[in-house]
Amino acid sequence: MAWSALVQPAHAVTAVTNPTAFLEQTESLRTKDHPQFVQMLEQIHRETPRLTQREQWYLRYLDAWETMFRGDYSQSELQLREVIDHSGDVTLAGKASALLLYNLGTNQRYDEAFALANRLTTALPKISDPHVRYATLMYLSQMLDFAGQTDLAIKYARMMEDAIPPGETSCLPLNLQVAALYNSKRLTSSSPIIQQAIDTCVVAGQPIATNSMWLVLSSLYLDESQPDKALALLDRIAPSIRTSRYHFHLLSSQAEQAQAYAKLGNDNEAKKAALDAIALGRPGDISEWLRVVYEVLYQIEKKHGNDAAALAYYEQYVIQDKGYLNDVSARTLAYEMTQQHTLVQKLETDSLSKQNSILRLKQALGTKAVETSRLYIILLLLVLASIVFWLLRIKRSQLRFKKLSSQDGLTGIFNHQHFISEADRALRVLEKKHGAACLIFIDLDYFKQVNDTHGHAVGDAVLKRTVAICEQHLRPTDLFGRLGGEEFGILLLDCSRDQGKAIADRIRMAIQATPVDADRGVISFSASVGLASTDTSGYGLQRLCREADAALYRAKRTGRNRVIADTEDGSLVEA
Ligand code: GH3
Ligand code: MG
Ligand code: MG
Repeated sequence: MAWSALVQPAHAVTAVTNPTAFLEQTESLRTKDHPQFVQMLEQIHRETPRLTQREQWYLRYLDAWETMFRGDYSQSELQLREVIDHSGDVTLAGKASALLLYNLGTNQRYDEAFALANRLTTALPKISDPHVRYATLMYLSQMLDFAGQTDLAIKYARMMEDAIPPGETSCLPLNLQVAALYNSKRLTSSSPIIQQAIDTCVVAGQPIATNSMWLVLSSLYLDESQPDKALALLDRIAPSIRTSRYHFHLLSSQAEQAQAYAKLGNDNEAKKAALDAIALGRPGDISEWLRVVYEVLYQIEKKHGNDAAALAYYEQYVIQDKGYLNDVSARTLAYEMTQQHTLVQKLETDSLSKQNSILRLKQALGTKAVETSRLYIILLLLVLASIVFWLLRIKRSQLRFKKLSSQDGLTGIFNHQHFISEADRALRVLEKKHGAACLIFIDLDYFKQVNDTHGHAVGDAVLKRTVAICEQHLRPTDLFGRLGGEEFGILLLDCSRDQGKAIADRIRMAIQATPVDADRGVISFSASVGLASTDTSGYGLQRLCREADAALYRAKRTGRNRVIADTEDGSLVEA
């Protein structure tokens, strides 16, 4: 993996006036001018007491970076985890996580590296700080390329290109894309993206990134059997690689040189370059480039018949080859395992969330059904209530209508028709139990004169007074109606002929004794009464009416203000 990702433009800083700005400037110099970075880090450490909490965590993050740069991966890891777990600062924790990913990957702790990579991928949508997002995408792309997942590596690199934060360029995203394309053997020396990446990185002032691209190009020349082109290129970039002192580039350029000379048949130069490459390595180093170099040396010694040397180099070659392949398969395996683990977790989560969704849906449906049926019940009740309300209204108006149709408008007692029908019904009932009843007809005497003398209104008052007097002498079961004009009918139930005559006479006397006050003095009036009894006339209403009418007629004829009852032989008897 390339440290080029961390290269930033340099700033000259002398004094700490604003600690946060000072820390930011220090960070920007970490690979561009590493000695200056170290010096500034020491300077800010002296200011520790006056740093804010956030600035102190920022300093710890830079310390972790420097610790890792020095090669103390485990100490750096502890510092990074401190920042991730306890700083409480999303940006710093994000940067520290991305750096930890690099740390673990470089340290061949692939399981943990890929587990972290997975977590970072999941967290990616939530990372809002553009710099943290950019750094996270960058390390993820590197890790995925490392694990042979070149398509994903390219995808992340393109995502970096889509949101380049201030101060960055598309140099690094292009760099990552070229590396992934090269690893998946999808590049030729004439692929335009290589030149594009070189141009962009030159403009961006990123020498290490530029050299990475040149080295990719020379590798392609070698693959395409153009060793002279590769050599010319390697010669051209040699001064820049030496200046950068980037170990990885020093080794790879030497190894490529050895390969190129070998292909050209210049065994001496090839051997020299190969031995220079080995001299750069540290004991126990395993790398793709050392494998290349030992292979070159083995081929040369074999060609020259130096069997012992050839065998020694071959053994070294095998160690490198095996080590390198082990490392590659360890990376791939770790990636696959992590992916598998994530997949299982995802499946479990998916199925759990599906179950939850089903349950939620069921609950929602249940609630919906309850709500709907509640609604239906309420609607039904409303409909029922309105039906009942309308029925009651209809019933009331019917009753009112019925009452109106059975009542006399002036006095409120039964009208003629209703009186007759009610009397008929009552007589039928009475007949069955052989009870007795009296039918009384009352007619006011000389009533026309009352009207003529005192007016119609006074006549009405006299009619109402007559009704009131009669009601005082009746039982609730008796029937009382106005037969027309100043004529009234009464059916006295469970009443013998004699009792009837007595009641009729009491009514007559009460009418006579109760004058009505009028404007022109007191009006006295009287009534004539005819009575018919079931005792003598039977239960037939018609006959009873006829007899009562006849008796009334007799009362009028014989002087008025009297009660006349029918007789059994048809002759009338004065009460
Ligand atoms: P008689 O003693 O023979 O019965 O004499 P009368 O005047 O009572 O006789 P008649 O039956 O001829 O007169 C009845 C009068 O009753 C006629 C009419 O003007 C009056 N009358 C009928 N209905 C009403 C009413 O609703 N109000 C009033 N004020 N007068 C009425
Ligand atoms: Mg009359
Ligand atoms: Mg009359």
